[in-house]
Amino acid sequence: MNFVLHGHAVATGITIGYAHLVSTARLEVGHYEVPPEDVESEVERFDVALRRARAELEALKSQIAGDAPAEFGAFLNLHRMILDDSSLAQAPRELIRSRRCNAEWALVQQMEKLTDRFEEIDDPYLRERKADIQQAVERVLKALMGGQTIPEPALTEEEKLIVVAHDLSPADMILFKRHHFGGFVTDVGGVTSHTAIVARSLAIPAIVGLHHAFQTISEGELLIVDGVQGVLVVNPDPLVLAEYRLRQSQLGIERQKLKRLKLTPAATIDGTPVDLYANIELPQDTAEVLDAGAGGVGLFRTEFLFLNRKDLPGEEEQFEAYRQVAQAMQGRPVVLRTLDVGADKGLTDGDGSGSEYHTKPNPAMGLRAIRFCLAEPQMFLTQLRAILRASHYGKVRILLPMVAHVHEIDQTLALIRQAKQQLDERGQPYDRAIEIGGMIEIPAAALALPIFMRQLNFLSIGTNDLIQYTLAIDRTDDAVAHLYDPLHPAVLSLVAGTIQTATRGGMPVAVCGEMAGDLQLTRLLLGLGLRNFSMHPSQLLAIKERILRTNLAEVQTLAQRVLRASDPVKTRELLAKLNS
Ligand code: PEP
Ligand code: MG
Repeated sequence: MNFVLHGHAVATGITIGYAHLVSTARLEVGHYEVPPEDVESEVERFDVALRRARAELEALKSQIAGDAPAEFGAFLNLHRMILDDSSLAQAPRELIRSRRCNAEWALVQQMEKLTDRFEEIDDPYLRERKADIQQAVERVLKALMGGQTIPEPALTEEEKLIVVAHDLSPADMILFKRHHFGGFVTDVGGVTSHTAIVARSLAIPAIVGLHHAFQTISEGELLIVDGVQGVLVVNPDPLVLAEYRLRQSQLGIERQKLKRLKLTPAATIDGTPVDLYANIELPQDTAEVLDAGAGGVGLFRTEFLFLNRKDLPGEEEQFEAYRQVAQAMQGRPVVLRTLDVGADKGLTDGDGSGSEYHTKPNPAMGLRAIRFCLAEPQMFLTQLRAILRASHYGKVRILLPMVAHVHEIDQTLALIRQAKQQLDERGQPYDRAIEIGGMIEIPAAALALPIFMRQLNFLSIGTNDLIQYTLAIDRTDDAVAHLYDPLHPAVLSLVAGTIQTATRGGMPVAVCGEMAGDLQLTRLLLGLGLRNFSMHPSQLLAIKERILRTNLAEVQTLAQRVLRASDPVKTRELLAKLNS
């Protein structure tokens, strides 16, 4: 059946490919007793579903085109092996007989027994295979519950696998950096959730908030992900497919053209220079940063080194990661943000220090970021030592997330002094004049800026959280995504006030939230006085092109009018004028 779903675009571009259903959620199925006379037919029902799931995998395998991504074949083989394992193929049959339970429940019981054992495994690769077991089981469950279409894939160069999930955590998403998918679509999630941010950093089209994608799409169905409009087309007809192929190639040509700007310095028409930095999540992201010609790393979200593992990375491991980034950037500034866990980026159990905090009802307002670090001073000191040691290998700066109280900065500065002293005692070198900055992402910090500026060397506005906390909108919740508004007068006033106060005080200020990579807002931010933007490397050249075509005097006047506008319609009109 041919249908269209609408969601929120989080990463632009168009992808055409085949659905790959991914479930990381706990599989929930009903539990009921089977009458004694029906037990054998329940076992038979299980056997039929298992055979059907295996047949689907075989059918998919035989239809893979030669130029399909290697991951496709690997997934299918692995899932087939999982379904052949006796703990999933035999044990549920025994359970149905001994407990007189339904096949779905028996299967999920066995799956949980198996996946619990995976939790104990140290090897991260093997640990990640848990998701494969869940996906393989899900295929059998779908067969048990009826309805599964076998696709007819003939993957070509442009046609890739598209991950379809109900929800993905930032931790799940970061794992996908190792695979080459064509796109991502999820039922839930806000556009500035960390899941969306990581999806954006993969530079492939992605849509969140589709509501019913996971339920309605079957494995292997042909999809078009229109990351420009936030539209997902399922089983497109040939005309629509041809139209999208054309648009896809046009976008490809535009991207190629932008590459010519890599070495062009970013400046407005009158020659005012603008710094364009990149945001990264993992050390390997620096290749893309250099490729985009970024002036430095404006935000390294170091917490991604801490996800998907039970233990915490030690000082040596962190030092190596930070040094790798510092060296790769060859003297360009690298802003290392200290650990920002909590809210949607929870640490897993293991050391016992983190997990309990993430079960609180309002984690975004709880022990997150700097608050968490100050509650775990030994862990924080370990990170600070690792960062300081890396500062010997490049131009490293420290950025503190979520500051709201001056005493948080006092305490952090004391810990930095302590970390320096420990390195002195060990005789290890570091940059003695390392600069310390604060993220302005809580309205309190923006409103009481001067008291924070006294303690800091630079500022970076985290608009994702600033909007979340100003408008009381959970950034991960798609039900309130329509209220997440960077143009809200309160948000603009906080952003503009921060830029103005910092600039007047001679303090460097950047924006590193998603607003910095939003082409619609580039001229507005320039007009408000911003001269340092940090964004995903994939957005950088388009933003540079916009800056190169900007008349600063003109946008300054219009930006002031946007600030004064009280009517949202007027604001949008002025924004359209700014971008014309
Ligand atoms: C922000 O809040 O804008 C920001 C850059 O930090 P993060 O998105 O990681 O919370
Ligand atoms: Mg933030």
